[in-house]
Amino acid sequence: MDGLESVSRSGWETYRAPEQRRAMDELARAYIRFLSDCKTEREAAAGAVAALEAAGFSEGFASGRAWKSLHGKAVFAARRGRRPLSEGVRLISAHTDSPRLDLKQRPLIEQAGVGQAKTHYYGGLRKYQWFARPLALHGVIVKTDGRVIPVRLGEDDSDPVFTVADLLPHLAHKDSSLKLSDAFDAEKLNVILGHEPVLKGEDGREAPKEPVRARMLELLHEAYSIREDDLISAELEAVPAGPARFVGLDRGIIGGYGQDDRICVYTALSAFLEAEDPEYTTCLIFWDKEEIGSDGSTGASSRFFEYCMEDMAAAWEPATAVRTIMMHTRALSGDVHAAVDPDWQDRHELKNAAFFGKGLAFCKFTGSRGKYGANDAHPEYLGWVRSVLDARNIPWQMAELGKVDVGGGGTVALFLAAYGMDVVDAGPALLGMHSPFELSSVPDLYAAKLAYRAFFEAE
Ligand code: MN
Ligand code: MN
Repeated sequence: MDGLESVSRSGWETYRAPEQRRAMDELARAYIRFLSDCKTEREAAAGAVAALEAAGFSEGFASGRAWKSLHGKAVFAARRGRRPLSEGVRLISAHTDSPRLDLKQRPLIEQAGVGQAKTHYYGGLRKYQWFARPLALHGVIVKTDGRVIPVRLGEDDSDPVFTVADLLPHLAHKDSSLKLSDAFDAEKLNVILGHEPVLKGEDGREAPKEPVRARMLELLHEAYSIREDDLISAELEAVPAGPARFVGLDRGIIGGYGQDDRICVYTALSAFLEAEDPEYTTCLIFWDKEEIGSDGSTGASSRFFEYCMEDMAAAWEPATAVRTIMMHTRALSGDVHAAVDPDWQDRHELKNAAFFGKGLAFCKFTGSRGKYGANDAHPEYLGWVRSVLDARNIPWQMAELGKVDVGGGGTVALFLAAYGMDVVDAGPALLGMHSPFELSSVPDLYAAKLAYRAFFEAE
């Protein structure tokens, strides 16, 4: 009999009609702009709020189109649906933060005539990937009077960029036999910031002991009116410089920094804005701190989401207990998956792996070594979710993150599951995840947006 076997479908095949290809390309171009503009949790949160405001959403729950933000890093948004909140909401989560190099609180050093900033890496990264590439500095510096000075340096053509120099091969013979974990020392991830020294004055004034460091302080003072102590209350993130780009002769791939998880932020937000008249109330929660364990007030283990749901219920349906809404809510944990790497296929179990171009990837469970730390979605829920996507002919696949006992990882799904709601991880699969240049598939981007929209509009 035909049609009995499970076959995952190609996004290229599904979206072969010229008008679909045009919509796909348009989405990819808009996404590339978002990715290029929003490289930090603050920039992603601000980008989301700007899009919400432009669509008529306002801060607080006075209207049926609402948003709330916490510390400019986490964002909640809701659109009131036709059904009462007591029947639950449709919620998609995603995270705004990505792995990067954070400047230390006392970053400035001078060694061998070179001025550098010491860093402490943020999230899980392969250290060697951060050497020998142009970096930009994004973030804020906060003065003692509360003024917040934004920094975004290294993106304009007229800006300088920064970098971590790598050791030349001629002097690295010894290192080539080291274990990877020993070969790259985190305390050597120092970002080059300067070279020019303060010179001995023509009036005979002595040059400072660390003249390059002194010059960097002068330049920072000129540009931002800051002193060295102001860097103590700063969040400066070294991220890959330059815009996201199409990759490949066919422009079928998008390359850029921070797609984990801004591809889900962008597609969920787009779907949320397009689903203008939903049956159920639709909600978004964009969290920060996912890459470092979801702790902190803007992370998923904080109470921010719960407080937003409480405020929403109080404003829109005060007679309904928040737990009732939570227990009836259906959620997607929007986070990226690992696509089968063409050169490292041995790390995947290919029958249960996500492939580039085969649509939105669901992950029933994350965790590792015996599903430890996983949400492990209920099959009743997976049955419903499948029906929602199949009804709109959207390509999707079901995948695990690598072979058993090889792969693993966590997402925020378990924080949502803690409220009793149904939730499953669902997001596009990337190549080179957590690298400075992550890759996503254009048809998968398109399928993700359509899938999230179908989820928001499902009855
Ligand atoms: Mn992620
Ligand atoms: Mn990640």
